[in-house]
Amino acid sequence: MNANVRVFILNSLAMNDPQRSLTLLWFRDDLRLSDNAALKWAADHGPVIGLFIDETINRSIGAAARWWREQSLNALAQDLSFYGVPLLRRTGNPLEILPKIVSEMEVKAVTWNRRYHQPLCEVDATLKKNLRDQGIEVHSHPGFLLTEPWEVSTATGTPYKVFTPFSKAAWEVARGHAYETVKNNVPVPSHLTGPEGVELPIPEMEQPFWATTLVKECAPGEKNASEKLFDFLEHLQDYPQARDSLARSATSKLSAHLRFGEISIHRVWAETAAIDSEGTELFLKELLWRDFAWHRLYALPHMDTQNVRMQFNRFGWSWDPSEKDKLNTPSTPLIPTKADQFHEDLAAWRAGKTGIPLVDAGMRELWATGSMHNRVRMVVASFLTKNLQIHWRHGEEWFWETLVDADPASNAFNWQWAAGSGDDASPYFRIFNPVTQAKKFDPDETYIRRWVPEYGTPSYPDPIVDLKESRQIALDAYSAIK
Ligand code: FAD
Repeated sequence: MNANVRVFILNSLAMNDPQRSLTLLWFRDDLRLSDNAALKWAADHGPVIGLFIDETINRSIGAAARWWREQSLNALAQDLSFYGVPLLRRTGNPLEILPKIVSEMEVKAVTWNRRYHQPLCEVDATLKKNLRDQGIEVHSHPGFLLTEPWEVSTATGTPYKVFTPFSKAAWEVARGHAYETVKNNVPVPSHLTGPEGVELPIPEMEQPFWATTLVKECAPGEKNASEKLFDFLEHLQDYPQARDSLARSATSKLSAHLRFGEISIHRVWAETAAIDSEGTELFLKELLWRDFAWHRLYALPHMDTQNVRMQFNRFGWSWDPSEKDKLNTPSTPLIPTKADQFHEDLAAWRAGKTGIPLVDAGMRELWATGSMHNRVRMVVASFLTKNLQIHWRHGEEWFWETLVDADPASNAFNWQWAAGSGDDASPYFRIFNPVTQAKKFDPDETYIRRWVPEYGTPSYPDPIVDLKESRQIALDAYSAIK
């Protein structure tokens, strides 16, 4: 059944039943049923219709994250269908789409969970006003972050720029919310229901041809997110010692699930905090890094494109805006095509063919799995921005296309952290040595050999850059802008 037929069914339903008062639940980065404040609110108001919009008015989602989101939406549609709730899918501008659906289906109330990037906040604020002007009840809820950006500030009322004082201030707020939210919203409200007589088709999904390995590596959706949390918490005590080991899989792997809200961050906090383990505090702090990145983006809406520390505007990073145009087809730019050094270096970095084993292993892991270990993310980012002196935006853009967990806050924040241009960044002069890092975190080369099977054979390329020399050039360039 196509989308038009579905709308017709809902329309005729609206006209036939004067008693019903439909609530529209606009799903965004909250693709779950349990511990979902907007869903609970909607269920309390009567029959619910779900809506997801592939928004075309802002930066479009990267290819790998889009793949993940499609699977997740499919899982959500299935879960909603159990309660008789349809999930409508639209593409375009929410400022046009929502009012249209509201009037066509005679929706009486609209609800959603909040988001925190200013351009999107503005869309939501405009919609809220327009709908309320039409007499529609509109209610937004917290749920994506542990703490709202306006809840945690310095003594002078400004947002924190440094993580440690931020995390101290945010801790109690996060703790309070986690218990309160989980108590109020879990499990799925038993009275959740959709309008009667509606067909609930689950759309067929297209698999992009390059996603064949992602299919094997990733398991999107609410059920899988819960399982992952459960498995991880069984080994929480190993987290402090093992999380940096590249060969082991000791981190939670929850980032993409959290990115799309397949699991409630409050629930992750509450379930972790309930365990008395060496790993508890450290893991909760990691969750606060996510909040911190979003708080910084909330304060600095252009963090994904502009240096936070202005002095870096004078830094001589290589930068070619036309490279961006090549990104949306991640299967193509893997082979260097131009003689120019910058393009060759960037292409070699993307392809995992730099001749630096740890960098290549990380970039190939990213390509194959849509993810990369955090330590290796730091190493490849340092290598790109410092040893190759290529602008962090090229790295951010490649990660944006290829990471399943890519989001505008964590990605930009961490790239600027690695490049030295962000708040509370790793100092520019801290240049990760990929060889030393490999010795420390992959001592028997298990990780490197897993991803770079030709390592140690004649077919493995020589390094594209001398690590010592390029380090010195980077330091000299930094001295010039200090
Ligand atoms: P765990 O160690 O299990 O941590 C638990 C959770 O804490 C993560 O799932 C994540 O939500 C959060 N977290 C941990 N570290 C960070 C951090 N440094 N910044 C923000 N949140 C954190 N993470 C993303 O979610 N999306 C991105 O687009 C992203 N881009 C990155 C780019 C670079 C250059 C770097 C260095 C890091 C980036 N990270 C990003 C942060 C981090 O690498 C991933 O969150 C982590 O590797 C995910 O694995 P995990 O879920 O097993 O982490």
